[in-house]
Amino acid sequence: MDLATKAYLISVGTVELQDSAPQGAASTAGPSAGEGSVFFSSGERTVRLTLAPSPLKLLREGNEHVIVERGRVVARGHLVEPLLHCPGQAYITVSESCIYDCRFCAVPKLMGPTKSKERVIEMVRRAAMTGRLKAISLTSGVEISPEHEVERIADIAQALRTFGVPIGISVCPTERSNEILRSAGAIEVKYNLETLDPDIFQTVCPGLSFEGIKISLADAVGVFGRNSVFTNVIVGLGESDRVLLQGIDELTEMGVMPVLRAVYPHPLRLADLEMRRPSPGRILRLAEHLRRALDRNCLRGDAPQTMCYPCTGCDLIPHRDL
Ligand code: SF4
Repeated sequence: MDLATKAYLISVGTVELQDSAPQGAASTAGPSAGEGSVFFSSGERTVRLTLAPSPLKLLREGNEHVIVERGRVVARGHLVEPLLHCPGQAYITVSESCIYDCRFCAVPKLMGPTKSKERVIEMVRRAAMTGRLKAISLTSGVEISPEHEVERIADIAQALRTFGVPIGISVCPTERSNEILRSAGAIEVKYNLETLDPDIFQTVCPGLSFEGIKISLADAVGVFGRNSVFTNVIVGLGESDRVLLQGIDELTEMGVMPVLRAVYPHPLRLADLEMRRPSPGRILRLAEHLRRALDRNCLRGDAPQTMCYPCTGCDLIPHRDL
């Protein structure tokens, strides 16, 4: 799968299983919560596609899987079995509910359960038994308050240190989240800005503070170091390329590594917001800009050990895909 093909597959974002293809696993994390997906790997690249009605069809051909569109083979490869949510990682959503109501996110609509510490430990123990566990990533909605959530996740992370693999954490930041999560053993953090346009942020993330998250990200670089602090940036919420390019420059100058994520228009959110999946050309241009920005600031996309940079399923990752 060449770079342009991966950009195209990300742009479509979905695939439909034909008869003999296996079932995918359902995600409990983030905007696409509740949807099944598959990881398709071809050559050096991997892409995650949501199982949904799609112009792309996934079929088995001998030992291979092929993605076909209107009779034309788009890519040949094989499916990769996720460990927990993604390949090689136990990526676990602890609280599947949220007091906030970010307009693109399915979690507040689904209001799922909160996993106990014992349940998370058991999930990781089972993942470790496969011999494929390379990292633990924890994420969480906000069940009661951001402070309460950080304490809960820190307590769980502390208990997971015994597995001896890197731990990354993505939560809503608080004044003390950096020191609390670092003391608990996390080596990487992700605090999601979601959009780089402050005006759009106000509309899509009511109740959250754009500036507050940026301050936490800047502090996090001081606590966790370079190549260790990330923020999800959704592409397709109506933001301009100019705002995105400037924002990418600003974040990377701070030492923060953006994860450029094509918006997923979840069926539960279609009435709340206009969301447009970016074109392959836009995905490529933004990823190339991000790669140059990382290079200028001596940041490496192949250095992170947890969460989305090593996974590469949903995005074009500099220094891994391009
Ligand atoms: S890139 Fe991130 S969100 Fe996407 S599948 Fe991988 S770990 Fe999950």
